[in-house]
Amino acid sequence: MAGSPPPPPPLPLSAKLTVLRGVGPTFAAALAENGIETVRDLLLNLPYRYVDRGSVLRIGELDRRPVPPDFEREIVTVMGVLKDLRQTTTRIQRMTLIEALLDDGTGPLRLIWFNQAYLARVLKPGDRILAFGPLSMGRHGLEMRGPAFEVVGRGTDAPEDLWVRRFLPLYRKMGPLTGRVRQRLVQEALDRAQPPEEWLPMDLARGLPGTLPALRLLHQPGDDSDPGELEARATPAHRRLASEELFAFALGVTLRRAGRLKRRGLVVPTSPELRERLKAFLPFHLTGAQRTAFKEIVEDLTSGRVMNRLLQGDVGSGKTLVAFLAMAMVAETGGQAALLVPTEVLARQHAATFERLLKEDAPRMQLLLGTMKAAEKRDALARIASGEARYVVGTHALFQESVAFSRLELVVVDEQHRFGVKQREALKAKGLDPHWLVMSATPIPRSLALALFGDLEQSVLDELPPGRQPIGTRLLEPDDAEIAWEAVERELEAGRQAFVVSPAIDPADETKVRLRDIQAMEALLQGRFPDTPIAVVHGRLKGDELESRMEAFVKGEARILLATTVIEVGVDVPNATVMVVDHAERFGLSQLHQLRGRVGRGRVRSRFLMISGSDTERLRALVETQDGFRIAQKDLELRGPGEFFGTRQSGIPQFQVADLVRDRQLLARCRESAEKVAQRGLGDALAAWLRQEQARLRLAEIS
Ligand code: ADP
Ligand code: MG
Repeated sequence: MAGSPPPPPPLPLSAKLTVLRGVGPTFAAALAENGIETVRDLLLNLPYRYVDRGSVLRIGELDRRPVPPDFEREIVTVMGVLKDLRQTTTRIQRMTLIEALLDDGTGPLRLIWFNQAYLARVLKPGDRILAFGPLSMGRHGLEMRGPAFEVVGRGTDAPEDLWVRRFLPLYRKMGPLTGRVRQRLVQEALDRAQPPEEWLPMDLARGLPGTLPALRLLHQPGDDSDPGELEARATPAHRRLASEELFAFALGVTLRRAGRLKRRGLVVPTSPELRERLKAFLPFHLTGAQRTAFKEIVEDLTSGRVMNRLLQGDVGSGKTLVAFLAMAMVAETGGQAALLVPTEVLARQHAATFERLLKEDAPRMQLLLGTMKAAEKRDALARIASGEARYVVGTHALFQESVAFSRLELVVVDEQHRFGVKQREALKAKGLDPHWLVMSATPIPRSLALALFGDLEQSVLDELPPGRQPIGTRLLEPDDAEIAWEAVERELEAGRQAFVVSPAIDPADETKVRLRDIQAMEALLQGRFPDTPIAVVHGRLKGDELESRMEAFVKGEARILLATTVIEVGVDVPNATVMVVDHAERFGLSQLHQLRGRVGRGRVRSRFLMISGSDTERLRALVETQDGFRIAQKDLELRGPGEFFGTRQSGIPQFQVADLVRDRQLLARCRESAEKVAQRGLGDALAAWLRQEQARLRLAEIS
């Protein structure tokens, strides 16, 4: 027999997870679905909580004294093995109950979950779990209702050796990665990982632990660590990892901007005649802010560089008109300009606005929609290809293969496709490099916008058109909802229209029993307003059905629009003068402010009524101010950037450790460093690291 096998070679952090013992292709694929592909991905998924073993209580020693019904219950942590797992249905409310006994050797504790049938699939008898929840006395003795839990061991392979260290790290669930398995993988990864090269510039790295020691500190904290500090992500170890992410981000942004400034942009010729012509389009005087923004755009379009500008402005600040003027600059000097919007209803609406502005020149405008009939579409494409269509308005159909422009010089991206990076790349692949203007629907606090979108120039519309009346905003207790329905009734009687917004409710939501869903709201409205045509729209409708219902409301055939948040993206119905939002606590402040911007577009004073039985302190911000930037700042502080930006499609990086709000000073420092590094030149090795990090953070490639 040979001696012990040689130790496995050290692993680079970029190694695929299959190099770890016990990770086969199927397991790796399941992890990949959760975005965990490499050793680095695994290690950068940090614990969200650290349980102090000193604070785990023994079941036999729990306090069994009864607590009167309206007194707060203490939340306790226990750990044991699950027995007797079963699913039943309550007789009265037909709720699904999952019940189990948890045994830690000192006695069993009954655990109960309501309406979470999926737990029957997640939990198995024999699992060792850590449960946190409130204690109460039930018919069968002591019980814990609706506990949060973590599976720390499965089946017989649930030894006690988790307790060698004082702090047990808990992680967010990731597919098949349960606590115990994850800890074993993390352990192996930490033991075998090769210390990566130092990529942070000295000024950023000073005083911080290396990458690998930082990861070890966070996954396996020493017994004298402070779990509060770890959970707040405020340690030098966190700063090391956050700095790497932010530096990679900042460097990418810096290089992207530098690359763009080097490219030659089409110069749009200006002349006094052009200026006169644009003026003739204007139905009203521009606000000061609109004038400034337009001037900045003109400077870009005539500079010989490629414009990439973010136009920010509160809802109702008049971004469309600025976009139109920019497009007219190009279109009236022989080029083509395209406006990309997220939905067909919006595309039609913008097209109608453009037709009004263009008057007798309206035939220069062309709409392009995915759902057009074949003949109509063929005609549209021909007009775009020939250059006859100068103003093109459409949805993502604009960027399909079959669309050929004759002289595309400017693209304006409205609302949801917020930063349009992908579309831009697609065009570049076709050899097109037009000027680019993106309009953000959600105001982003200025300091953050500068840090985040450093590759964009920025204009801000910080002024509303004159004569806008503030929208009467109220917060109502559910018991006072009648006040809202009376307001709706008054507006309907005066010939106007109303929005009612219901939150989209996830069926797996455990609080669902207490929420009024959209069907219940529809029934309520039908009862309260029996002869009123109501259009109901929600996320599960097919595209054309959604469009036709929205259209009915825009045309005034439907008098009430009942919706989940889909209307958020911006229909303009000036005749709608009241909006009621049910369960307002389910929405972000910025979202509510956007919704509020849907009314108050006509001359009549409009009303915005929020119904909510909780969270009133937060919601009061909307009653107190109508300034979208201030609301955004508050929202960002309260919810954090992930929720605020709505992740994924927003074009905002998916940082693992960095937090754009908490770490904004660090981001500023990373930007300064990145500028210096970019000026000196990167070198191949740093460039390779950057590409890797950008892929991991799902950032747009440097180009
Ligand atoms: P948003 O910035 O939310 O996209 P819009 O472009 O839809 O705002 O403009 C909101 C409303 O204000 C529209 O009805 C538009 O016609 C009107 N508007 C825009 N600019 C002015 C202006 N300078 N004076 C008066 N009304 C304006
Ligand atoms: Mg708009």
